[in-house]
Amino acid sequence: MRVGPSQEEIRRSNLGALLRSVHLHGAMSRADLTASLGLNRSTIGALTADLAAAGLVSEGVPREQRGRAGRPSLVVRPESEKVYVFAFAVEVDRIVAARVGLGGAVLDRFEAARPRGEHDAATAVAPIADFVRKMRHTAPAGARLIGSGAAVSAMVRRDDGFVRLGPQLGWADQPLGEALRGLVGDGRAVAVRNNADLAALAEHTRGAAAGCDNLVYLYGDAGIGGGIIAAGRPVTGHGGYGGEVGHMVVNPNGKACSCGSRGCWETEIGEHALLAAAGRSATAGREGILTVVDAASRGDNTAQAAMRQVGDWLGFGVANLVNIFNPEMVIFGGTLREVYLASAAQVRSRLNRNGLPACREHVRLRTPQLGQDAALIGAAELAFEPLFADPLFADPLESA
Ligand SMILES: [Zn+2]
Repeated sequence: MRVGPSQEEIRRSNLGALLRSVHLHGAMSRADLTASLGLNRSTIGALTADLAAAGLVSEGVPREQRGRAGRPSLVVRPESEKVYVFAFAVEVDRIVAARVGLGGAVLDRFEAARPRGEHDAATAVAPIADFVRKMRHTAPAGARLIGSGAAVSAMVRRDDGFVRLGPQLGWADQPLGEALRGLVGDGRAVAVRNNADLAALAEHTRGAAAGCDNLVYLYGDAGIGGGIIAAGRPVTGHGGYGGEVGHMVVNPNGKACSCGSRGCWETEIGEHALLAAAGRSATAGREGILTVVDAASRGDNTAQAAMRQVGDWLGFGVANLVNIFNPEMVIFGGTLREVYLASAAQVRSRLNRNGLPACREHVRLRTPQLGQDAALIGAAELAFEPLFADPLFADPLESA
């Protein structure tokens, strides 16, 4: 009968915790690591030596102490140039590829416009082949690819990255995971997740919600995506499809939705809803949203009424989510950032009227810290995960 973790399991978990600390916080002294991980100095020393031998961290004198007299205190820093992942983002209007080093630095970044109306995922992501070639070329000799992650604006099967439905991309039943695996060509699966889930993960690990374990992230473009983190863990449901807050039915007598249902939240707060309410072309996209927000701020009556209407619906949905999840923070990303900023009073007043006091009293309404690349950064974090689970794992693919 087993009574607890073995010495080896404890060591592995400590190695992962140390590596994750320097990945998230950058260079740290042994004293900082000792305090933050709750381990003694000699254990920290041994773990650092193991990670340094594996080429994952290095120890050295901090830049500001170089050339000074006296004995400097060493810092442990991640090997950001030598240990990296590939991160991809497949969005409505663009495809992005990046090489991200341990520590979170974006080392290379490429972007292409995604042609609208391309229903075949493999054809749509084909530009990634060229990006991967360039990124491999610029990586320093001996640098190690840990894995790859991808964000997509769609409902995606967690196990293999198969896209079940991406109404805004015009995709249904597309083997995106398989296509990306072929393009990277290292024999490993590419971890694919919904973009709002990954943006939430990024804001949680190194953005606006760092240190905040209960969070609802809302992402708006043509549709509305949601990423939920509860008790520090992403809520993605049984198959990975959870968090589709944009398809929460709020108005049964409302407009037809791209998903086939009627009156979903995104039909009331998505880009199309605001543009239609303001009497603008539905194809105006992000630029159109900015124009309406600007017109409202300059006193245009139609634009102001449209903002009030959408702000009201935004507040209804936020109140529902706050009542269900009791988050510490709700973040408004994508074009919802602008919509929220222009209708914050409306949203807050709806939340105060419809949210349960116990659920809403501590909630903070915020805009993202990581900007347009949040989902891409989340995809990189996802790709690093296996490394933190077992930092010294033997990787036959790399040693072959
Ligand atoms: Zn819907």
